[in-house]
Amino acid sequence: MRKSIKYIKHLFSRSKIQKAVYDEDLISLLESLSLLDSVKAGYYKCEECNCKITIENIGSLFKRKNEIKFKCNKIDCMNNQ
Ligand SMILES: [Zn+2]
Repeated sequence: MRKSIKYIKHLFSRSKIQKAVYDEDLISLLESLSLLDSVKAGYYKCEECNCKITIENIGSLFKRKNEIKFKCNKIDCMNNQ
């Protein structure tokens, strides 16, 4: 019962994705965007609070100037648009 990665990618190309997807879908999405290894390696930081992004604390991801940005799942970071 997994969502179509193609559809998720389509959404992603248009706007940011909140983590309304199941973890499994999130991992598939990251994998399909070739981001999974980088996230696991701790390469990304939250755009708001600068904490390290992990699989567990991804709040949202979005595209800015062709770069993938992440926010963690703290309420303050999620609410800061
Ligand atoms: Zn944060």
